[in-house]
Amino acid sequence: MTAEIIAIGTELLLGDILNTNAQYLSRQLADMGISVYYQSVVGDNVDRLEKTIQNAMNRSSIIITTGGLGPTTDDLSKETIAKVLDLPLEEHEESKQRIIDIFNKMGKQMSSNNLKQAFIPKGAIVLDNDNGTAPGFIAKTENNIIIVLPGPPNEMVPMFEDKVKKELNKLNEGVIYSETLKLCGIGESKVAQLLEDVIENQSNPTIAPYAKNGEVHLRITAKTSDETVAIKLINEMKEKVSNVVGEYIYTSDDKTLEETLVSILQEKDLTLSIAESCTGGLLSGRIINCSGVSSVYKEGFITYSNEAKKKYLDVREDTLDKYGAVSEETAREMVEGLINNCKTSTAIAVTGIAGPTGGDEDKPVGLVYIGVYYNGNITVKRCNFSGNRQKIRDRAVVEGLIMLWNEVK
Ligand code: AMP
Ligand code: MG
Repeated sequence: MTAEIIAIGTELLLGDILNTNAQYLSRQLADMGISVYYQSVVGDNVDRLEKTIQNAMNRSSIIITTGGLGPTTDDLSKETIAKVLDLPLEEHEESKQRIIDIFNKMGKQMSSNNLKQAFIPKGAIVLDNDNGTAPGFIAKTENNIIIVLPGPPNEMVPMFEDKVKKELNKLNEGVIYSETLKLCGIGESKVAQLLEDVIENQSNPTIAPYAKNGEVHLRITAKTSDETVAIKLINEMKEKVSNVVGEYIYTSDDKTLEETLVSILQEKDLTLSIAESCTGGLLSGRIINCSGVSSVYKEGFITYSNEAKKKYLDVREDTLDKYGAVSEETAREMVEGLINNCKTSTAIAVTGIAGPTGGDEDKPVGLVYIGVYYNGNITVKRCNFSGNRQKIRDRAVVEGLIMLWNEVK
């Protein structure tokens, strides 16, 4: 069984929006063990859409389209697909009522073209839209299954999760079960090297490493006849992997690095304060993304200038003169300032050169000092990151999170 994804919308071709639907669907299908061989993007144009769908029907058994289900005349996915399948469009009474109810609830006047959305190709399975007006549908032919979903991700994703997955699972013999181990503080090639034997001898479950925002994720996927066997296979693989790279694994749940860190700080009843120079609040921002962080996060400072470093963190003028703002000494004093002024049990301070200007031979762009404090100890690390300004700042944030996680884990 192979699948193909067709994203429909002229705005995608113009580069106005990013095709995140294809990324999401590809990932989901991969998780379910369904191979995706093609992705295409086509504008809101009947002829080209028709050709794209016909092409897809000739080479893939499952076709998933997103977009073009809106009420306006440029949205013509449904009409075109019905034409290709040679099916008439019929009004679906329940969907019509849902659309009318949505407008009543909003207290808005419904325009007549909204009811266009209640028309579905004859015989198709209707997928109710719990987050918008356009229903999706699944049409089956002798050789193909065509799944038609709305474009807005906040409508498409829940529809796929709640309704389409069930249908696809019926087609799939066996159960696909997958789990992701998330690692930090180690590069992808190193992981691949350490796990060479495990990866080379894989069959079921399969294991696939990929790098993501300074982390490495290992996706383990098992395909079996029943769930308990799949879970057992995955657990065995997890153990094999843990034996080799266990110290780098921060979670096997679907948690982010910052969520994992915040949970540990909560469990251990620790508090956190942060001082940032080149990252300018990004690190605090990631930590504060976690809900429930108020029991942990105390204070944060963006001390971009030397004056600010002196004023809020008591970094000594002497230190700044002698070693500079981007130095191990300054990073250390920034941490000390946090400890003294915030009475915090853990701290992170970041100072560096994000570029593109401001670097020299001694202190190149990408040089970042990160200091962390836990349990009476201050550790300062000298890092050399590459990339543009944004990348260097992002890497510094991840490194700060990793360093503290390493201390408190
Ligand atoms: P449509 O149903 O084609 O009118 O799409 C409505 C809106 O959904 C678009 O304006 C986008 O904001 C979003 N959207 C459509 N297709 C995609 C896609 N492939 N990836 C991400 N967002 C999309
Ligand atoms: Mg559109």
